[in-house]
Amino acid sequence: MIKLEAVEHTYKTNTPYETKALDNINLEIPFGQFVGLIGHTGSGKSTLIQHLNGLLFPTAGRVIIEGQEIVQKSPELKKIRHNVGIVFQYPEQQLFEETVFADIAFGPKNLGFNEQQITAKVKKAMEAVHLDYDALKDRSPFALSGGQMRRVAIAGVLAMEPKVLILDEPTAGLDPKGRDEILNEISALHQQLKITIILVSHSMEDIARFTERVIVMSKGKIVLDGTPREIFQQTQLLEKLGLGVPLVATLMHKLKEQGLNVRTDILTVNEAKMEILRWWKEKHV
Ligand code: ADP
Ligand code: MG
Repeated sequence: MIKLEAVEHTYKTNTPYETKALDNINLEIPFGQFVGLIGHTGSGKSTLIQHLNGLLFPTAGRVIIEGQEIVQKSPELKKIRHNVGIVFQYPEQQLFEETVFADIAFGPKNLGFNEQQITAKVKKAMEAVHLDYDALKDRSPFALSGGQMRRVAIAGVLAMEPKVLILDEPTAGLDPKGRDEILNEISALHQQLKITIILVSHSMEDIARFTERVIVMSKGKIVLDGTPREIFQQTQLLEKLGLGVPLVATLMHKLKEQGLNVRTDILTVNEAKMEILRWWKEKHV
């Protein structure tokens, strides 16, 4: 459904600040996949995702969404922006309406839905991110907690019912509890709505637990693309790229180095527990 062919993006061409932010990106993402996009700051993640709904255009190569090439001034752009929703980093900074309802209703209103339809969409979107409609709809978004503000922003994109939901560092600045809650909600959204989700993060822990495919970027290029298990086997390369591996994966590698015959392709604490128990029983039975 999403296809990038030899995409390049250069900012500020022909100036001393010229930066090639994307370099020969080739990528296909089928409908319904839950993808993690990871890379060091400045690797090109935000530039890449803005190509997927026509906020940026390639300076070379092609971006094709559902068979349609994205080109500037195309009459299809509105439809593409409707189908591919992006929740930007620190989205709460983009809240601007007086009430939570008005903020979430902004997208569907612009799409021309009637009042009844808009209300239904706002309710559904708020439910999806665990915001209490009756308690919060008339509140000012600015009076909410950080986590709630972020949910309002996510609901605003969800209310457009996109086929692709892209979240750029959705957990940035949240405490561990808030982070886990948001990630669990995003994961539940994927299961319920079966839409394509692209989760941008620089945290391996976030990506490892939830996504089915991990794309690693470095200096504008895709350097790894595979399942989380495949990717987290590449401990040395990941460390070279300044990306830690999840702590449990590091632990299992260390145990193996110490001579314990355990699997190292472990992604969660629970898997680690089961694997260590398996090793222990084998040794003691
Ligand atoms: P990431 O999201 O992975 O941190 P970005 O896509 O934001 O990476 O940035 C990739 C590169 O492009 C960086 O070198 C960054 O400085 C540069 N860049 C990003 N946005 C702009 C811009 N609007 N103008 C000029 N350079 C930019
Ligand atoms: Mg970014």
